[in-house]
Amino acid sequence: MASVYIQMGHCFRATGATGTGGEQELNKAVAARAARLLRNDGHTVSVRKADESVFKTDVFVAIHGDGSENASAAGASVGYQDDNGRKIAAQWKRAYQRMGWPTGFRSDNYTEALGQYYGVSRARTAGTTYAFVIECGFLTNAVDGAELRSGKGRTRAAKAIARAVERVLGEGEGGGGEGQRGTKIAASPTAKKAQAHAWADSRGCAPVFHEIIDAGWSHAKAIGIDPAVFVAQAAKETGFGRFGGVLDASFHNSCGLKTREGGDDSDPRAHKRFPSWSAGTEAHCAHLALYAGKLSAEEAGKHGDPRNFPFIAGKAKTVEKLGGAWAPSPDYGKSLLRDFLKPLIAHE
Ligand SMILES: [Zn+2]
Repeated sequence: MASVYIQMGHCFRATGATGTGGEQELNKAVAARAARLLRNDGHTVSVRKADESVFKTDVFVAIHGDGSENASAAGASVGYQDDNGRKIAAQWKRAYQRMGWPTGFRSDNYTEALGQYYGVSRARTAGTTYAFVIECGFLTNAVDGAELRSGKGRTRAAKAIARAVERVLGEGEGGGGEGQRGTKIAASPTAKKAQAHAWADSRGCAPVFHEIIDAGWSHAKAIGIDPAVFVAQAAKETGFGRFGGVLDASFHNSCGLKTREGGDDSDPRAHKRFPSWSAGTEAHCAHLALYAGKLSAEEAGKHGDPRNFPFIAGKAKTVEKLGGAWAPSPDYGKSLLRDFLKPLIAHE
């Protein structure tokens, strides 16, 4: 799952660079559609106006429409400032074309209405990995304009964004695959339950963490994942039951699972509230099993996983591969292994 920053070009400026006629409405509509699609795919999306501050995410996209005095000027275009930007922009163009965009593309970085891509530079300064800008076409051209004023045309631009995000992330560390090396998630127990309790005590766990271990251990075994992996992840995600982040124990949420709609990491309402530790840890184990390819999306849903998106099935068969998949950071899986799972397994 990725974090995506969508900038609605020029919105809602009244002075300065306000965009071509009808552009703000186009940019806003494409942004809303793209946000919906990306959230459905399990990504965290921030939609922002033109002049809001840009912060670090995995992907930054600024949405624009072009304009010209010359009514025959037509075609979409993209802009970027580095190789990662070029990669994701190329994926957007490819998807846009395949979905039927009729008038082709201008050269990359081409635009009449916009001289420089301030949003892209700000995103790169903030540390965003993939930053690009799209010009969906010319609102001043009859063919492009008809496309860009239609629901179909706006959805096409948005779908191409979702596809581009999927393509660049699929190339990253999160890819699954058979026969890979690493620490298997779908496996028999690599530690004993008493050992997990003793290790948690040695790390100063909150009393509730023992309830979490007991509830999740049997679900993990029944679902077919290594219960030690479940405990290690619950320890990492809940701070050994001490919480202290946006969630507390009343959520019965052992891994910070969000609701299907998702939302900001800092928003408690974006996170799923479960009725009991049994329900919360079952959903946690099912979500892990879905990543591991042990459960299908449908099966994970039956175990109460609110985010049983088909596209994550089998994306991380090993603990290492959870980095870049369960969490955007490639180090997530390594840290889970080094700081939690290995010490647990080694605990006397
Ligand atoms: Zn623009």
